[in-house]
Amino acid sequence: MVRMLEYVRQEEITGLLQKMIRAESVNPPADTRRCAGVLLDLLEAEGVPTERVEAKPGLVNVVATLSGGRPGKRLILNGHIDTVPAGEGWSVDPFGGELRDGYVWGRGSCDMKSGVAAMVMALVDLKRSGASFAGEVQFQAVADEETGSARGTLHLIEQGYCDGADFAICTEPTSNRVELGNRGLRWIDVTLSGTASHAGRPQLGVNAVAAAAEIIGRIEAFEFEARDERFEISAPSISVTTIEGGHTVNVIPDRCHFSVDRRMLPGETEAQVLVELEAAIAPARAERRVVVDIAVRPGCWDPYTIAPEEPVAVAAVEAARAVLRREPEIGYKAACTDASHLATRAGIPTVLLGPGNEQLSHKPDERIAVDALVSGAAIYVHMLRELLV
Ligand SMILES: [Zn+2]
Repeated sequence: MVRMLEYVRQEEITGLLQKMIRAESVNPPADTRRCAGVLLDLLEAEGVPTERVEAKPGLVNVVATLSGGRPGKRLILNGHIDTVPAGEGWSVDPFGGELRDGYVWGRGSCDMKSGVAAMVMALVDLKRSGASFAGEVQFQAVADEETGSARGTLHLIEQGYCDGADFAICTEPTSNRVELGNRGLRWIDVTLSGTASHAGRPQLGVNAVAAAAEIIGRIEAFEFEARDERFEISAPSISVTTIEGGHTVNVIPDRCHFSVDRRMLPGETEAQVLVELEAAIAPARAERRVVVDIAVRPGCWDPYTIAPEEPVAVAAVEAARAVLRREPEIGYKAACTDASHLATRAGIPTVLLGPGNEQLSHKPDERIAVDALVSGAAIYVHMLRELLV
């Protein structure tokens, strides 16, 4: 028999999400004190042992751990509580947490306070049931994801919170479909140094802007052979995303800086990405006497996938099938998520599964269907029961 939410009411889940949306936590600056406070109050009231992990003043992560009565596996539930800024064009208050027409509205309702609310209520359901189970479940609400994960998931990994975990669920919006990987990403800064001179005597200088233009032309002409049709976007990509250089109109510029966003498929490595970029740079370096410095930003995401046979993937499919009463879709995410870090840095087989709708995320009028939210919580309850035996 499918075990749905027995100890938690639908209104408790929507009410929690409304409170979380009202506790604004836009990143930057990722001040999550209020939103983390909502979770801390709830977990304390429920008697779940909880820690407040402040990675930097204002950036509060919440870690709650529930142990069963018997030895067993260790499961991590991970979601971020920071959000992107509200932006313009809303028809409702983005931080009002309104419940209307079967939806909860507001910034973070999809990405991903809904998933976090569903996870914590699944944990509360397990606690209230009083049932003994094997192993341990750890819920992590992280403070920092939208602008990088250094003070969030990466911090928790560094501090040992993920040690010894057997599987993890990351609640990024997937519309409750099961996703078994994401593409990788490197952000790379390229700085060119030339020699300034009077623009009336350009032969005395080394023009860093012209050299950058030549390199960017080669980058734009890259053709990638790698394909992985499992992914929503099945090829790698490279984009030059910012550029600045020069001083004034009549001086040959001695500096130019541009940044690159490189999306990776599984099998591609940072070393390969740098070799390929170096090939675009080498001719300018040799022929123009320009000095080129390349720096990969820290904390970038590696591509990852897990096998559909992994216990956490099997449990996700079974739970989604039971709750949604149809065959769940399986996918692979184009964007990067903290699941990368959990899978590649902490070595934990990780599934992406969350109630939010990716198509409505990072936009005005972001909203989550109450049905999807409650189904998400029920899927997690089901997975806890499957995995902690
Ligand atoms: Zn997210």
